[in-house]
Amino acid sequence: MKRLNGIAASKGIAIGRLFFYENSTMPVEPGYAQCSVTEWQRFENARIRASEMLRDIHQQALPQVGGNESMIFEIHQMMMSDDDYLNSVRELIQKSGFTAEYAVQQTGNRLEQMFLGIKDGYMRERAADIRDITKRLLDILSGRKPPTLSSLGNQFVIAAKDMMPSDTICVNKKRVLGVITQNGSCVSHAAILARTMGIPAVVGLGAEQYCQLNNKSIIIIDGFQGISIIDPDERVLNLYRERQQEYRKYRARLQRLKGGANETRDGRKVVIMANICRPEDITEVLENDAQGVGLFRTEYLYLEEDFPSEQIQFEAYRSILEQMAGKSVIVRTLDMKAGVQLRNQIMENNPAMGCHGIRASLRKPQVFSTQIRALLRASVYGRLSILLPMVISVDELMDAKGIIQDCKEELRAQGVPFSNDIPLGILIETPAAAMMANELAKEADFFSIGTNDLTQYTLAVDRTNGSIGSLYDPGNPAVLRLIRLTAEAAQKAGIPCGICGEAAANCNLTETLLSMEGITSLSVSPPFVLEIREKVCSIDLGNREKTGIS
Ligand code: PEP
Ligand code: MG
Repeated sequence: MKRLNGIAASKGIAIGRLFFYENSTMPVEPGYAQCSVTEWQRFENARIRASEMLRDIHQQALPQVGGNESMIFEIHQMMMSDDDYLNSVRELIQKSGFTAEYAVQQTGNRLEQMFLGIKDGYMRERAADIRDITKRLLDILSGRKPPTLSSLGNQFVIAAKDMMPSDTICVNKKRVLGVITQNGSCVSHAAILARTMGIPAVVGLGAEQYCQLNNKSIIIIDGFQGISIIDPDERVLNLYRERQQEYRKYRARLQRLKGGANETRDGRKVVIMANICRPEDITEVLENDAQGVGLFRTEYLYLEEDFPSEQIQFEAYRSILEQMAGKSVIVRTLDMKAGVQLRNQIMENNPAMGCHGIRASLRKPQVFSTQIRALLRASVYGRLSILLPMVISVDELMDAKGIIQDCKEELRAQGVPFSNDIPLGILIETPAAAMMANELAKEADFFSIGTNDLTQYTLAVDRTNGSIGSLYDPGNPAVLRLIRLTAEAAQKAGIPCGICGEAAANCNLTETLLSMEGITSLSVSPPFVLEIREKVCSIDLGNREKTGIS
């Protein structure tokens, strides 16, 4: 029995066997082959097998994701048959006498570096394709079956060095008991996704502890305390089975709060909504009786398909609005950033401070207008609000309003209907926005406070870096002071002000946050809606001593 300490990323207890989802390859040591002719044949056989696999994947992907997306598998086939590629592998095997594995890895490394050195973003992105090809060939040469998350047969706890959001969206929730990762933090997007899906998760184990995991063991994931236990003895196993049962019972008990009010004991009403990443998350929103969608992170639509068309987006938004049947749905415009990137996005040195959110939208008005047109068209199917991310100035808000106005005029000219009442709000997630809240409140219809980024930018603590996770605290007085400034500005201007960052789901902060009168709503991952309702109903703000935050 061994206990490993990580970061609690998603509540719940999972008990099961591990499935290693390795999206990286193990380094191959240099080695010489006994016979270079046989070795070359081994490589050729692997290449033929890889081509067959890619052809099959291409065929399967075509009806699901369309020609543009599935073309990548054809490109991989072509890259593996390219003269430069083959000559390099041949030289290493036939002239230098290395094993096929080492030749494939060395060739892959060289080409990857070459692509990474190219300025053009599209060509640089080919480095990832070379990595994919290398991994596929090495898997075949070593007889290893490459794992895929979507095809998981049994129920497992997934272990991975990193879980990118694009990996996590493939997860079949019914098959995944829990998640444990070497890297990551509790507000990285993979953690947010795990919480949205209600999957217990421990992240940020660090390399040393992660190496101790193996797929023969039974593992316990304690998503409350951020610990995991390998090969627990009978006593510990029973203890955790009991805790698992208790948590299930607690969640079942929360069901009685469905249909109830969100009101503190002294009569303060709060709207409790839910955050979603994908249209299918609406099922959980409705099951947990949220009063609306407080944040739809639309970037996940773009992860499944780079730059989805206006029609694809329109259908996604319409489906959400229809299912919410007149309840408020706040859709955030595109915010691709660290950890949530398009395949062809140019890598920045410091992506958190880079060109994302409204900055990217204003620089790529075509992409922004496509999304806005889709939203406007969908607006007649429900109660839509639009939320702009990463705003730092009134100018940005005014520029965005200009583009939205142009889209409205275009649609009007085409006779396409849209709602006349679509509130336009901004995320307050930078200290700049909080400091300018009075000015911004004159132009915005509502505020939504993004405490995940507000905490990161205020405290200068990278939200994805688990190793400084103890410094990441949305309850820090500096962050609370900015939240208060924002809430006061909203109240003065008479506009609603919600909190949609992860702090909204933190029961230890609920009372402090609600003591700020301007805060009108909280939006949390769907599984937390009833828990927060219970918390809100237990609070008496009248009896509360002053917070001391000035
Ligand atoms: C936030 O920053 O708090 C937020 C809600 O947005 P995201 O987590 O997607 O950056
Ligand atoms: Mg944010």
